[in-house]
Amino acid sequence: MWRIIAVLMALVPAFCQPKLIDAHVHHNGDAKFLDRLLTRLDQLDGMALLLVKPKDLEQVKPYLEEHKNRLVGIGDIALDDPQAVEWVDRFHAAGFRGLGELTRPRKNFDDAKYAPIYARAEQHGMILLFHTGIVSRTRPDVSEDVSVDRLRVTLLDGIARRYPRATIIGAHLGNPDYSWAAEIARWNPNLYFDLSGSTLIKKQEDYTFFKSVFWWTSVASPHTPKSGGSAFEKIVFGSDIFGGELEELDRSIERYRRMLEACGVSKEAQANIFAGTLWKILQRR
Ligand SMILES: [Zn+2]
Repeated sequence: MWRIIAVLMALVPAFCQPKLIDAHVHHNGDAKFLDRLLTRLDQLDGMALLLVKPKDLEQVKPYLEEHKNRLVGIGDIALDDPQAVEWVDRFHAAGFRGLGELTRPRKNFDDAKYAPIYARAEQHGMILLFHTGIVSRTRPDVSEDVSVDRLRVTLLDGIARRYPRATIIGAHLGNPDYSWAAEIARWNPNLYFDLSGSTLIKKQEDYTFFKSVFWWTSVASPHTPKSGGSAFEKIVFGSDIFGGELEELDRSIERYRRMLEACGVSKEAQANIFAGTLWKILQRR
């Protein structure tokens, strides 16, 4: 009897929606980071989409299996890796639910070269997390084949239309092309954005600005798709923690909350932004 109860107790968390789902956490390769992340997620009743490089797959796989209620694996492949499609299959077979953060491509995101990767991801029902907008240049002394022009947010429109069964998340709301990001999300039901990066810092004195970007709440018009919710629900929470800097999670939550409050976004919509939307997506198989 007790054994049955113990088994049922272990199953319960897998079916309960957490309070927070972070769409964008980079694993820094250090196993100790996973323990720290897990502790923080337990405290917050949170879950994280953990972006894992191919080299770390074997290290992370058993950990993810053990903590399914807190961690969801996302395969951090390089679009230009000649083995990219094989990696998609490998990550999928290991129980990973998506790919990303897809960034620094040699060609435009929507180039035909990457079509087999997206098609395979769609076949597996995976989430695609793309970096959009400006890109850091951490070693200005070294020549690199990178350009923001290849990561323009508008390129996600064609990808969202061509792969309707894939869920696409654009990181950073196309910084600084916010209006374009929101408008293509408005018409593509499979496209969402996170607001990680420098945007909520840059705009901290002007958070109501986002009302002009996510403008269509309760608008009934033949020129806007039917939707009952808040326009802000095209946003999902993402912190973009990298290098093990877990403190960024708390700062991100605070910035998101302040912006959403400033824009008068309802508690119900905020619950979807912080967890509900991604939870529904993750329930699909
Ligand atoms: Zn990014």
